[in-house]
Amino acid sequence: MKYVLHRKSNCKKIKIRVVEGVVCVSAPFTVSKKIIDDFVQEQEAWIKNQLDKNTQSKENDLICLLGNEYRLHYINQKMCYVDGHDVYMYSDKVLIQKFLKQNAKKYIDLRFEFFCEQLHIHDISLQYGFYKSKWGSCTPSKHKICFNVNLIFMPLEFIDAIILHELAHLYHLNHSKDFYDLLCTWMPNYKEIMKENKKLPIPKLY
Ligand SMILES: [Zn+2]
Repeated sequence: MKYVLHRKSNCKKIKIRVVEGVVCVSAPFTVSKKIIDDFVQEQEAWIKNQLDKNTQSKENDLICLLGNEYRLHYINQKMCYVDGHDVYMYSDKVLIQKFLKQNAKKYIDLRFEFFCEQLHIHDISLQYGFYKSKWGSCTPSKHKICFNVNLIFMPLEFIDAIILHELAHLYHLNHSKDFYDLLCTWMPNYKEIMKENKKLPIPKLY
């Protein structure tokens, strides 16, 4: 199996990660290539499973958008749209991202407004982007919150949890006990929701 090897002085064990279809292995300098190869070999089933999660979406796949399931179709007209239980997409990154962003924004903006009203929070501006390793971020000094457009693929309760997570950062910048205490007064099952949905894969539409 092909992999990218990083030797690290501060690492004690061999570790494998799969990042966007690439198998990355980090290992201490003291471990031989043979031992690393054997280790990777042993983990092959897990690695293949991780790689599968990352494969390109295809015709007739079921994908979830804002809590609803749609059958995916790739079309040759330059547009993306939903019709009934089907979603039609032209296979172009820019067009697909625009479609996802518009639809994520339409829903999350409203949901965000709803929570702000409930919690008496005002004047926060929202931004949307495609981020690899975060669902959102909050910059209280700039009254700004960012959301990952990929939230569109997640269950609605998970989207709520992320909105509330970022709103709680207006009061506590870090992930301290106070932060989670506040968050859990707003959403008592916050931790369960995060745990349940942590491993949901994001479809690769482009
Ligand atoms: Zn946070």
